[in-house]
Amino acid sequence: MEKKIIVTGGAGYIGSHTCVELVKSGYTPIIIDNFSNSEKFIVDRVEELTGKKIEVEEGDCGDYEFVKSVFKKHAEVSGVIHFAAFKAVGESSNLPLKYYQNNLLSTIIMLKVMEEEGVSNFVFSSSCTVYGEPDQLPVTEDSPTKPAESPYGRTKQMCENIVTDFSKVTKGFKGIFLRYFNPIGAHPSSRIGELPIGAPNNLVPYITQTAAGIREKLTIFGNDYDTPDGTCIRDYIHVVDLAKAHIAALDYLLAEKEDCLEVFNVGTGNGNSVQEVVDTFQEVTGVKLNYEIGPRRAGDVEKVYSDATKVENGLKWKADISLAESLKDSWNWQQSLK
Ligand code: UDP
Repeated sequence: MEKKIIVTGGAGYIGSHTCVELVKSGYTPIIIDNFSNSEKFIVDRVEELTGKKIEVEEGDCGDYEFVKSVFKKHAEVSGVIHFAAFKAVGESSNLPLKYYQNNLLSTIIMLKVMEEEGVSNFVFSSSCTVYGEPDQLPVTEDSPTKPAESPYGRTKQMCENIVTDFSKVTKGFKGIFLRYFNPIGAHPSSRIGELPIGAPNNLVPYITQTAAGIREKLTIFGNDYDTPDGTCIRDYIHVVDLAKAHIAALDYLLAEKEDCLEVFNVGTGNGNSVQEVVDTFQEVTGVKLNYEIGPRRAGDVEKVYSDATKVENGLKWKADISLAESLKDSWNWQQSLK
């Protein structure tokens, strides 16, 4: 039987890579996207990469009538992967209501319609931001969540709480939270990748845009942290590896008979410093980066990287693309945008 999966935000960075992997694994993605932070040509590229026509329903996940109509039109949906959300940390501090309204409402509406339509499998895009500055490294799923540094981070925590409360009273519901570490890279074909609007906030797109001459200079935000080279440490995961974790999560949910709600870290299990990322980028691309050391950025966590034991055992998934390979893919994608 055809396994249809509704993918909200399916034209976005992680969503589009996940759609490619879904098709490769025999699932049929149905994209819901309002294209507020994504481009239609990315869907064409997903079709090109998979050789399959991809159904797209253009609209807002916070619009109950619209979401309902999508579920009615595509009867017998097997599950939902809910990516659609605003994600700019800085903007969320300036426009908190925009973030709360969009990220919370879309999650609530998805759950409500799933319940009404008898769809029980839900994969939610969460983030390692819920751990804040962890007391212990690597971070396991049992680590306590900390007060978030931004409204964006709070929406991820609040959505996890909403799903958790819903799951307790909803018979048949099966859910997985995937707590992403730092997604980087692009499809090795360079046909899909990240499309930041304006100046990127994230490290790797800022690096590639600087290398491409779009930005004058990269600033490393602080080198006086308590780390071996003084710069912050993160767990950078290739977006194709991350996409595959969603397939593993769906496989798990579809095979599971009992109600469940599971949390998995999705990272490589390795920490790399900002300086290491910059050095590795220069090594693998041969491009000299214009960069300087600047002051710390408010709200930055010093070091965070995942303990990947639970996801390796529970979902039989493991990241296998190196930092060097990931940076090469990011650079190839950047160059393809010329
Ligand atoms: N970073 C940096 N310069 C930049 C952007 C980011 O030094 O222009 C650093 C940032 O301080 C952090 C790391 O790169 O230590 C990853 O930042 P990003 O915003 O990509 O992810 P997050 O902070 O959400 O982990």
